[in-house]
Amino acid sequence: MLKKFLLAPGPTPVPPEALTAMAMPIIHHRSPDFLPILEEAKNSLKWLFQTENDVLILCSTGTGGMVGSVTNFMSPGDKALVVRGGKFGERWTEICTAYGVEAINIDVEWGYAVKPALIEKALKKDPSIKAVMIQASETSTAVMHDTEAIGKIVKKYPGTLFIVDAITALGVIDLPVDKWGVDVCVTGSQKALMLPPGLAFVSVSEKAWKFNETAKCNKFYFNFKKERANLAKNQTNFTSASSLIVGLNTVLRMMKAEGLENIFKRHARLADATRAAMKALGLKLYAKESPSTALTAVEVPAGIDGGALTKLMRDKYGVTVAGGQAQLKGKIFRIAHLGYFDTFDMIVGVSCVEMALKEMGYTKIKLGKGVAAAEEILMKF
Ligand SMILES: *Cc1c(COP(=O)(O)O)cnc(C)c1O
Repeated sequence: MLKKFLLAPGPTPVPPEALTAMAMPIIHHRSPDFLPILEEAKNSLKWLFQTENDVLILCSTGTGGMVGSVTNFMSPGDKALVVRGGKFGERWTEICTAYGVEAINIDVEWGYAVKPALIEKALKKDPSIKAVMIQASETSTAVMHDTEAIGKIVKKYPGTLFIVDAITALGVIDLPVDKWGVDVCVTGSQKALMLPPGLAFVSVSEKAWKFNETAKCNKFYFNFKKERANLAKNQTNFTSASSLIVGLNTVLRMMKAEGLENIFKRHARLADATRAAMKALGLKLYAKESPSTALTAVEVPAGIDGGALTKLMRDKYGVTVAGGQAQLKGKIFRIAHLGYFDTFDMIVGVSCVEMALKEMGYTKIKLGKGVAAAEEILMKF
């Protein structure tokens, strides 16, 4: 037998409470049984997003939410300022390009956060820029951009929307959508929300709804105006992913019981412990600044094959972490600590890194050193 542990930054483990709730018989999405379920989800999402605005519920992965966040507010020929500091920043550019929106890229060296002053400079130079697009947490490099600071800048430009991919930030760090001036905020079900993949959530500000009136990008499936009208009736435009929405209510109740403050504290504690453990083992963190609270990216030491390391962890020890993407393939591994994670999940991850590296002949590893460093931090509640 091999007991399996999922420590990847999406999909993340699903709590048993949600798994059993989702095993309930299917409810018809237009029946009276379903309306209160959607109503509860709609209201709880506002709590999670810290917003008074509607949070749309889409049946898609997170990328679908990103696509809709471009097509519902932009027209072909519009310009969008994209912070490109990793794989997911590149995705904003690719989506814009696919719909004829001109992406003006601010390329940030991988491992670093964007300097908000660069955004200010670009908007001053060209106030016709219709949107600024960032990742609150760039999952490919495990770096967080400064959403609050950038929000303050974009707020000054009435012709510019602030569109944030918060897929590994919402429910991880404090990200008060309204207070920070985030016009469009996207997240997905399979990260901090502890659900299977299949739902995307997008909050839309009043400012953004104004842009929606004139946006001419092609769209059919992700039609936010129609989704909003349906949401008002506790419905979705097409068939609701009803089982996932039942599960959503379960996890949101769990999150409410824990409280936002405690959720953020738990994630920060797990992130601190993981980083301290890796440093105690003599390993280097990939993030050079502003490391993400959602996951830790670690450089694979010289002489070790990163692909073989994550494979050994998964196939022999049952621990799935993520490797690197694109140019980071084989060069880093990424341990997640977002969602349904607590103290001993981190011990499993750290311990597995120690054993796998030792097994691969990395002689600098002292077994237990990372675990001890993690324990010191994990004990501080
Ligand atoms: C996971 C993730 C996405 C969405 O990926 P999907 O596979 O479409 O769910 C987008 N942005 C970031 C930062 C992510 O971590």
